[in-house]
Amino acid sequence: MQALKVLSTEEKEALDSPRISTDFTQSDYLGKVYIESYGCQMNFADSEVVTSILINKGYGTTSNISEADTILLNTCAIRDNAENKIRHRLQAFKAIKAKKPDVTIGILGCMAERLKTKLIEEEKLVDLVAGPDSYRDLPNLLDQIENGQKAINVFLSKEETYGDIEPVRLHSNGVGAFVSIMRGCDNMCSFCVVPFTRGRERSRDLVSIIHECTALFNQGYREVNLLGQNVDSYHWINQDSNETVNFAQLLAQTAQIHPDLRIRFSTSHPKDITDEVLHTMARFENICKNIHLPAQSGNNRILELMNRTYTREWYLDRIKSIRAILGEDCGISHDVIAGFCSETEEEHQDTLALLTEVQYDFGYMFTYSERPGTPAAKKYPDDVPDDVKSRRLSEIIDLQRKHSGIRNERLIGRIEKILVEGNSKKSDKHHYGKTDSNKVVVFPKGTEQIGEYVYVKVLSCTTGTLIGELVNS
Ligand code: SAM
Ligand code: SF4
Repeated sequence: MQALKVLSTEEKEALDSPRISTDFTQSDYLGKVYIESYGCQMNFADSEVVTSILINKGYGTTSNISEADTILLNTCAIRDNAENKIRHRLQAFKAIKAKKPDVTIGILGCMAERLKTKLIEEEKLVDLVAGPDSYRDLPNLLDQIENGQKAINVFLSKEETYGDIEPVRLHSNGVGAFVSIMRGCDNMCSFCVVPFTRGRERSRDLVSIIHECTALFNQGYREVNLLGQNVDSYHWINQDSNETVNFAQLLAQTAQIHPDLRIRFSTSHPKDITDEVLHTMARFENICKNIHLPAQSGNNRILELMNRTYTREWYLDRIKSIRAILGEDCGISHDVIAGFCSETEEEHQDTLALLTEVQYDFGYMFTYSERPGTPAAKKYPDDVPDDVKSRRLSEIIDLQRKHSGIRNERLIGRIEKILVEGNSKKSDKHHYGKTDSNKVVVFPKGTEQIGEYVYVKVLSCTTGTLIGELVNS
C-alpha cells in the first residue's frame, strides 16, 4: 500500500511523522497525557478537541512520552497499512509499560471504532478504546481505569459535533488552523470504511463555526481550513428562524469575518459541489481558489462499482464549471485509487486519460486496500494482483508528477500573494508560504513576519515547490 501526493519538503516532513501533543500543565493536575495522531486532518482536529476536554477536566499534556501517565493514539483505519502502523507502534510501548506498569494506553479514532473490544483482546497493552463520538466520555473512561478496569466507548452519535468545545491548537504555527464543520458521512462509497467508523453525517451549527473562526482571527491566525468528509452537503437549520444554511452560505459568512482571513476547505464531493459554491468562491478574494475534488477513477463501470454516484462525464462537467467560473489559475487536486476490484488495463487507461484531460495541480494516489465490512469487501473480490496495482499506481504517480510540473511552470514570472507560514525547513534564511491556489513557495527572507501577506515573484520551480523572491506590491 502506497500513497503519494507531489509534496514540498515542508509538507513531506509534516506528513511522515505523527503529530504529538504539546506541553501544558496546571496545578493539581490529574496526570500527564501524551497524544499521537495519525491519518487525516479531521483526526488532527479531533486530537485538539480531546486535548481541550482533558485539560478542562484537570489533566496536563506532554510532548515527552516517557513522562506521560496516559498515552493516547488517535488512529486511522482508511487503509490496511494505516492500521499496521499503529500495531507496530503499540509494540514499542511494551518497554514503556514494563518500566511503568501504571501507565494507561488508549486507542482513539477510526481504528478504535472499527475493532472495538477486539483491540483490548488482541493488544494486551491496551486499557482504553474510544471511538470518534465518545471523546466527552474520556474523563469517565480514565476514571474507570483508575479503578482497575478496562474502558471502552464506541457509541456513534447522530448529533455530536463538539461544536461548543474550543480546541487546544497542537503544533500550530499560529497562522493556519483546522475547523471541523461537520462529522461522519452518508455516502457509502463501496471501498470506504468512514461511514462505519465515523457514523452518520451531521453538520455543526453555524454560530459556533463563525465564533471559532473569529476567535482564531483575533488571536492572529490568518487561515482557516473548513473540514468535513463532504463539505458541499453542509446543511444546518437555524432553530430560531427555521432557515437552512448551505455550504455556499457558510463560506460567504466565514469570508466576511475579515478580508485578511484566508478560507480553505476540504473535501468536496463531485456529486454535490454546486455552481453556487463556485460563484461564492469567485465573489470573495479571501476564499482560496483551490478545490480538492477526488475522482477515484476515470472509468464509468468502476465508478459505479465504487458507488460514487457520478459518471466521468459528470465529473468533467464539474471541472468545466470550475474553469469557467474560477479560471485557469484555480488549483485542482484529486484522489485516485489504482487497482480497484476487477479493474482492467483499459479501465486503468481511462484514469490516466482523465488525469491528462484535467491536468491537476496535485494528487493523492493510492492502491486499493480492501477494508473488512465495507460493501466492496462483501460483494467484489479484491482480484487485481498487488504487482499490477503497484505498477498502475506508479504510472498514475509519474503522470501526476509531470502535470504538477507543468502547472507549476506556468507560474514562473508571475507575482503571487503569499501568506508567510514559517521558516523553510532547508534554510533558516528562507521563509515559506502558500499561494492562493495552495502551492508552496520558498523565498529569501526580507523584513516580513510569519503570518503576514507578501508578494513574491516566481523565478523557478520543482514539481512540488515554487522558488521566488520578494517584490513590492
Ligand atoms: N471524503 C473524501 C472523499 O469522498 O473523497 C475523502 C475520504 S478518504 C479519508 C480519503 C481518500 O482515501 C479517498 O478519497 C480515497 O481515495 C482513499 N481511500 C478510501 N478508502 C480506500 C481504500 N479502501 N483503499 C484505498 N484508498 C482508499
Ligand atoms: Fe468515504 Fe465516500 Fe464518504 Fe469520502 S464520500 S468519506 S470516500 S464514503
